[in-house]
Amino acid sequence: MSNGTLYIVATPIGNLNDISKRALDVLNHADIVACEDTRTSGKLLNFYNINTATTAYHEHNADSQTPKLIEKLQGGQSIALICDAGTPLISDPGFRLVRAAHEHDIQVVPIVGACAMVGALSAAGLPSDKFSFMGFLPAKSHARQKLLEDYKNRTETLIFYEAPHRISECVTDMAIIFGDEREATLCRELTKTFETIKKLPLSELLTFIQNDPNQQKGEMVLVVSGQTKQSTQENYDNWLLALAGELPPKKACGIVADVLGLKKSEVYDRLLALQND
Ligand code: SAM
Repeated sequence: MSNGTLYIVATPIGNLNDISKRALDVLNHADIVACEDTRTSGKLLNFYNINTATTAYHEHNADSQTPKLIEKLQGGQSIALICDAGTPLISDPGFRLVRAAHEHDIQVVPIVGACAMVGALSAAGLPSDKFSFMGFLPAKSHARQKLLEDYKNRTETLIFYEAPHRISECVTDMAIIFGDEREATLCRELTKTFETIKKLPLSELLTFIQNDPNQQKGEMVLVVSGQTKQSTQENYDNWLLALAGELPPKKACGIVADVLGLKKSEVYDRLLALQND
């Protein structure tokens, strides 16, 4: 008996039309649909008149369910894994099952489709050539701030998932740690009725969120610009002025240029511009 196939199927993140024909075919023809929550996914399956048997596969039963599902795959059954919304494994369960499938030489086939982070990045208006997906930040502020400090000098675009009741705290921390002027885009309720995509410097984005309680509701992705040459400069202005107050200008510029890997002449020009302001 040859092994069955494990399909990783993306489902909509709000708008039920965002599902591919291929995903519907796979969900119809699989022997089992493994769902993060059978009731949530039942609504989607009912909507598309799909009667395939379902089983629960989530964070809390992954240890016990993974070997059972692998056994079924080895017995020739095909399984479609879905999560509550979007692409499985992206801040959602599935990793242990996919890893086990590879270990048992079971074919894994992705059925691509909706994913909130990809949708957000595509509409954020921030550089998309290099980016990192950071998932959810820690809920506790100390841990969150520590992690943001680690991310501060990264130059690629950063993508975060965030819970609505923490968005205000999170953007506050980002404005303090990354700087008020760092550009960010709030992508809220993507594909749904109240979809909002707002790109502003962090301090203005915070005001936008705090002035409208609706912006603290629903599902959201925050896309944040990486450290740019411009933001590096904003950060070093204060150091440069402070050092130039204590040391000869050339010495002060030399230190800043060395630490930040910039040209001395560039830093010197900046100092002159700041002093002339
Ligand atoms: N697997 C999903 C995916 O492919 O995007 C992500 C699941 S994760 C548990 C849920 C988080 O994804 C939400 O808290 C939110 O940050 C983001 N998200 C999901 N749907 C969204 C939507 N329609 N608009 C904005 N963000 C969404």
